[in-house]
Amino acid sequence: MRLDAKIPAGPLAQKWDRYRFELKLVNPANKRKYDIIVVGTGLAGASASASLAELGYNVKTFCIHDSPRRAHSIAAQGGINAAKNYPNDGDSIWRLFYDTVKGGDFRAREANVYRLAQVSNLIIDQCVAQGVPFAREYGGLLANRSFGGAQLSRTFYARGQTGQQLLLGAYSALMRQVATGKVRMFPRREMLDLVVINGQARGIVARNLVSGEIERHEGHAVVLCTGGYGNVYYLSTNAKACNVTATFRAYKRGACFANPCFTQIHPTCIPVHGTYQSKLTLMSESLRNDGRVWVPKTPGDKRQPSQIPEAERDYFLERKYPSFGNLVPRDVASRNAKEQCDQGKGVGDTRLAVFLDFSDAIQRDSRAVIEKKYGNLFQMYEKITGEDPYETPMMIYPAVHYTMGGLWVDYNLMSTVDGLFVLGEANFSDHGANRLGASALMQGLADGYFVIPYTIGGYLAGSRFAEVKNDHPAFSESMKQVQARVAKLLAVRGQRTVDDFHRQLGLVMWDHCGMARTNDGLKKARSRIQELRAEFWQNVRVPGTERDFNQSLEKAGRVADFLEFAELMILDALARQESCGGHFNEAYQTEENEAKRDDANFCHAAAWEFTGEDKDPVLHKEPLVFENVHLTQRSYK
Ligand SMILES: Cc1cc2nc3c(=O)[nH]c(=O)nc-3n(C[C@H](O)[C@H](O)[C@H](O)COP(=O)(O)OP(=O)(O)OC[C@H]3O[C@@H](n4cnc5c(N)ncnc54)[C@H](O)[C@@H]3O)c2cc1C
Repeated sequence: MRLDAKIPAGPLAQKWDRYRFELKLVNPANKRKYDIIVVGTGLAGASASASLAELGYNVKTFCIHDSPRRAHSIAAQGGINAAKNYPNDGDSIWRLFYDTVKGGDFRAREANVYRLAQVSNLIIDQCVAQGVPFAREYGGLLANRSFGGAQLSRTFYARGQTGQQLLLGAYSALMRQVATGKVRMFPRREMLDLVVINGQARGIVARNLVSGEIERHEGHAVVLCTGGYGNVYYLSTNAKACNVTATFRAYKRGACFANPCFTQIHPTCIPVHGTYQSKLTLMSESLRNDGRVWVPKTPGDKRQPSQIPEAERDYFLERKYPSFGNLVPRDVASRNAKEQCDQGKGVGDTRLAVFLDFSDAIQRDSRAVIEKKYGNLFQMYEKITGEDPYETPMMIYPAVHYTMGGLWVDYNLMSTVDGLFVLGEANFSDHGANRLGASALMQGLADGYFVIPYTIGGYLAGSRFAEVKNDHPAFSESMKQVQARVAKLLAVRGQRTVDDFHRQLGLVMWDHCGMARTNDGLKKARSRIQELRAEFWQNVRVPGTERDFNQSLEKAGRVADFLEFAELMILDALARQESCGGHFNEAYQTEENEAKRDDANFCHAAAWEFTGEDKDPVLHKEPLVFENVHLTQRSYK
């Protein structure tokens, strides 16, 4: 297989405009002849469905929730980036592009990132027109704040609920199309297979999660917007329903999976506090605009923070990175927090936490100002921990948050299967080895509102389609396989719960494929995962039946996929013998313990091709060519 990214020729800043002109168009009267399946209703899926229906295509939209609004995007707190330069502090499309490529440790595709920066401004206009209530300055201009990896303020926000407000905007646009009849909404459906006919994605097989019925849906193209797979670690900041199933099943039908080992560990989360905890909570990165991160200078110091004098505190991020201070990118901040805890300077009962302290900001700006900016986040922290962050520093520790890996896509956002497009967190995306804060919402909406409406037209206008109905043998074959897998899960009737397996898998992944990795640890993890997977199919207990609403069965299917997918992550981590961004192999670090890339050998996207059950996948490499930025050792000093 040859990976062709289809990057248009010409100067970087003109590529997208020229490409849009060169793409074939589907004339308005013909658009109604095409059926498009969109799976997922987060920011990527809702914006794509609404935009495609607005253009005149017939759209069928699926999600696992009871309402499209429950997508995980609703949880996003901090904000969305755009290069508007309202604060007049030096931003530009070029700078957003540069910061993103550098932030991703030079493992993203230049042309995609530049396009993302270009359309970022359109997203803000679109959302404002929808009525998204972004925070404003006194004079009426939209307000901005800073996020990691940038020395200026370009993040638009709606208090700590930016994702919610953006999703309500996209959802309104989607529901408008549901009302016009151009979108048919299928909630409570879980896509369990992709149907490929004559090399083209022509439909999906989904389970109705309420009745248990297995359904088949045909179309001319399939657009996956099914989010990230951070829950492979069991504990993460992701919504509990986030999973890898749709993308993993598409992988098994021929879509290459790229960079699966690139995981983002967010530095600003409420620390783990018990063995039976099922969820971790993010405290938004926006808090690092005003909060100062510190630990006691002396290892083992158990005094209350108020009793530790200023001279005995180490504001380690400000000390090590004076230019960016507390707003270094997430991978850098996380590794530093871990390093402090490994040296015995961690705080709290578990000693796996560092302080995030607002006392200086409150003294400087007043409690009222801080409350206005972060009130709901402070309230959330107090509810969960019982401590008042206005009075005592928050305690935070890194947690799994976002996955930069995903299905490989070309410049059109099309995977290695013709007609299968992948948007939002589900694709391997524009973020390289580390995503900068507030860039996921930007990318999901860029993909859905501003990229797919053009590129899918180019595909449809340039392809021939055989007549396919959902009684095609490929649908029947896929249905049989899906039914057999469901039956197999129910037939085991073992002793251990699905959660029990999932928790154990998560621990293996966190210990060996988490913030720091070693070759020995990764190899150990691989055999541990294989053993766990074998035991799962002998000993898992899934109560209930398939003809019913059965959440244990849903979970079992997702965990079964995680148990296979985890091994792919390990293989990818082992193949990438360098450190970059979220992938930190301890063997490759600078003298100052920063990630050390090997550009001569690993300046590529790693795309894995499925070759059959119990066979090793094949690795394909898309070389990353940097013509506009110089590859350097990242520095935030
Ligand atoms: C707590 C938290 C805060 C965040 N804050 C920010 C922020 O401030 N700024 C920022 O830029 N990013 C933030 N992020 C990241 C960002 O929220 C996500 O990357 C982004 O929302 C993902 O959007 P999406 O549309 O790709 O997927 P999602 O919103 O995850 O939506 C996935 C959709 O797919 C559906 N689905 C999944 N599997 C199936 C299946 N098999 N069949 C059918 N449907 C399926 C789901 O029902 C859902 O509708 C945050 C993440 C977290 C965890």
